[in-house]
Amino acid sequence: MARTDVIVLGAGIVGTSIAVHLAKRGLSVALIDRSGPGEGTSYGNAGIVEGNTLFPPAFPADWTELLRIALKRSPAVNYHAAHLLRIAPWLAAFYAASRPPRLIETMQLMRPLFAHAVAEHEALAADAGAGRYLSRRGWLKLYRTDKAFAAVAPELELAARLHIANVTLDCEAARALEPALTPVFRHAVHWTGAVAVTDPLALTRAYVARFADLGGLIFTGDARTLHRANPYWRVDTAAGPLDAGDVVIALGPWASDALDRLGVKLPLAVKRGYHRHFRAQGNATLSRPVLDVENGYVLAPMAQGIRVTTGVEFAPRDAVPTPVQLKHVLPAARELFELGEPVETEPWLGARPCFPDSRPVIGRSPRPRGLWLAVGHAHWGLTLGPATGRLIAEMMTGATPFCDPKPYGVERFRA
Ligand SMILES: Cc1cc2nc3c(=O)[nH]c(=O)nc-3n(C[C@H](O)[C@H](O)[C@H](O)COP(=O)(O)OP(=O)(O)OC[C@H]3O[C@@H](n4cnc5c(N)ncnc54)[C@H](O)[C@@H]3O)c2cc1C
Repeated sequence: MARTDVIVLGAGIVGTSIAVHLAKRGLSVALIDRSGPGEGTSYGNAGIVEGNTLFPPAFPADWTELLRIALKRSPAVNYHAAHLLRIAPWLAAFYAASRPPRLIETMQLMRPLFAHAVAEHEALAADAGAGRYLSRRGWLKLYRTDKAFAAVAPELELAARLHIANVTLDCEAARALEPALTPVFRHAVHWTGAVAVTDPLALTRAYVARFADLGGLIFTGDARTLHRANPYWRVDTAAGPLDAGDVVIALGPWASDALDRLGVKLPLAVKRGYHRHFRAQGNATLSRPVLDVENGYVLAPMAQGIRVTTGVEFAPRDAVPTPVQLKHVLPAARELFELGEPVETEPWLGARPCFPDSRPVIGRSPRPRGLWLAVGHAHWGLTLGPATGRLIAEMMTGATPFCDPKPYGVERFRA
């Protein structure tokens, strides 16, 4: 029977980063996915390593915004009505976690992870020879109205206190950085310390290649075959059954497919999101990701073209795609930047795995023995993958973790 110290289930950016960190610490590790590494949610994001993140997206406090969402007039959120009933407990918990004191608490609890995010990617990318996929020009948030810009003042004050680098710009100064942007906005904030990944799939593949160099094993297999074969865990792979003393669930939005079978229930919902690539018109270029705040989309320059990503859709993970948000934001996107022809015939659909308190679960499950969890990275899985990999590897090998892992423990859902 083939056996390793650890099996990591899911080869997205989170699982891959964990596998590399464990292998670097001398453990024998198998990384298992049912498809190619990095081809899940980690493929289609906006590519921003957002070390600058302070507050998570919150349930709207403002009735006008709530009404816009209810009437499907907000570009930020779409929903399948029947699904809202199904996830009502999750929405109630999300609402509770959106009260201002809870948002401040989340900001404080998540800060150690975000503060390490860029440095951990830089270190992993350098080690993997993948530095070319990281663009160190930060990202821009654009504000079309004075009102929207004024609303960001508290965040900027907090960023200054925490020494999170940013520069506020007027339209012309922002256009000096990005001349192809049309002057349809009034203000911008340049988060200069963030890093943009120009090809998230290639980056994950480079991390997988580094894992293989370190002696890591890569298998095709179905995580739903995970079961106890005492005293080990066993997974059926295309190369036969594989055993390990410890197993890490890093299955992103599919985590419950494996965990439900083990009787481990987590309050995990998905916020679906879409992207589509476009060619630029003529010589127009973009050198960093740009968020059009009031219109709720990102333009991200990628190896495949200009990637337009959407906000949040509350819908069942596997329901048919309903990319209405893309349709709604495209006129604003075309107004801001001259998009040419779409690259693909259909938009890409992904699902952000989210807990209601916007914190991931990183750590040991109280039961069954040897089960570890690294799921629920929500809007920041690309950002937090390498920091998560380091943290869980430190926990699993008995080293001193670089930050207190308690805020990310699964035990919080029992309280
Ligand atoms: C539109 C959009 C934009 C985003 N933008 C950003 C951004 O700019 N910055 C950022 O930090 N984050 C962003 N995110 C979030 C980020 O992409 C996710 O948080 C992250 O990719 C999650 O990574 P993961 O490794 O946990 O999951 P995944 O990448 O989904 O990996 C899970 C893996 O598990 C595998 N799997 C599933 N089921 C099984 C099974 N039964 N057996 C075996 N393997 C299985 C899948 O094939 C997959 O490879 C965005 C997300 C979306 C949708």
